Amino acid sequence: MNLTTKVLLGMAAGIAIGLIFNIFGLNAEGTFINEYIVNGFFHVVGKLFVNSLKMLVVPLVFFSLICGVCGIGDIRLLGRIGTKSFVLYMLTTAVAIATAIMIAGGLGIGEGMNIPTDTEFTGKEAPPLSQVLIDIVPTNPIQSMANGDMLSIIFFAILVGVSILLVGKKAKSLVSSVEVLNEVMMKMVTIVMSVAPYAVFCLLAKAIANLGLDLLWQLLGYVLVLIATLLFHLFVTLQSILVIFSRLSPLTFLSKIRNAQIFAFSTSSSNATIPVTLRTVTEKMGVNNSVASFTVPFGATINMDGTAIMQGVATVFIANVYGVELGVAGYLTVVLMSVLASIGTAGVPGVGLIMLSMVFSQVGLPLEGIGLILGVDRLLDMIRTAVNVSGDAVVSSVVAKSEGKLDLEVFNDPQAGVLSAGATHIDEETEKELAATVAATHDK
Ligand code: ASP
Repeated sequence: MNLTTKVLLGMAAGIAIGLIFNIFGLNAEGTFINEYIVNGFFHVVGKLFVNSLKMLVVPLVFFSLICGVCGIGDIRLLGRIGTKSFVLYMLTTAVAIATAIMIAGGLGIGEGMNIPTDTEFTGKEAPPLSQVLIDIVPTNPIQSMANGDMLSIIFFAILVGVSILLVGKKAKSLVSSVEVLNEVMMKMVTIVMSVAPYAVFCLLAKAIANLGLDLLWQLLGYVLVLIATLLFHLFVTLQSILVIFSRLSPLTFLSKIRNAQIFAFSTSSSNATIPVTLRTVTEKMGVNNSVASFTVPFGATINMDGTAIMQGVATVFIANVYGVELGVAGYLTVVLMSVLASIGTAGVPGVGLIMLSMVFSQVGLPLEGIGLILGVDRLLDMIRTAVNVSGDAVVSSVVAKSEGKLDLEVFNDPQAGVLSAGATHIDEETEKELAATVAATHDK
């Protein structure tokens, strides 16, 4: 059985157990299941797994981006990759939110609805765009790495890469070392991924057991329209972009992106999924590391199609519930604001609501409105994060293909990059050889 099948089984089993706990009330406050299983065992195993993914993000992005810049062959290409991916990321986000507003507006969701809310929502401030721009250049790169500030890490890594190229031949051994370090990090991704079936089971069992399923019924219209729009974007809009710009097969793409989608779904974080997305686009889809090492972390930070769709549907829904008429100008502001908000906020769980509060204050919608949808956001966050990483992978493939940096043979090979059971097996011979090398160095 390959890893994806195992992870899918873990996912299905996790959802089933979560539903059983939830529906039969076994997860009530104070029960053994709630304390020791759901918020004990499942919580700890799930957190350990998400932590191990997050642990890899910064070093992986740093080393792979340096390798990417050094391996690019033509430094002007860097500018082109940057421009193309930025334009495509902004464009897909704008299309996503416009689609959402049109579908939700057309269906008139929330009209005539009167939902009492006792959940207060106090919006956290998202940073202003000027600060986002200023922060791209880190005053202290170590601090940026410690904080996981992706844009400044990207900036610093590119600068290191370019400087290595400028140093030239003398830096050759450094480049090989960084390349090996990158490979080591990728191996760590493989190790972490090999425990995914069990971790995904725990993450999903906990998330579903804790979901407010009654709330889901109350807000069924909102939830269904949002999910339908997310699926439309994933299967129609993104796949059309893939076909129009790069003539790649959507079916192959969809079968290859599954792993990254499952990880995004289980962790609700595009950022934590970076290692898996990077591995998927390079090893399964054949995108050259010189493109992927930039487009993937960049996309995880600035590209959030699924989140934009949530904002579009939520705006229409809450405007209708409160009887506020936004008009064309209001909705255009919503599109612009959410595209801008996506640049400044990183892909972490629940950040979409913070962005939403930014949009609401801009168009004068009541912030308490967000309290209405808070209860169902956990589940929707999982689904939209899967759409977010799919968008990153589509743009990475399109940009790579347009620059001749996509290996079609790998893309079309169904077995490419598939993790087998032996992927984390240590070869005894190699083990002995490496031990001997270390011993020899010490003896010198
Ligand atoms: N969780 C999403 C992500 O990481 C962001 C959000 O919509 O809250 O991409």
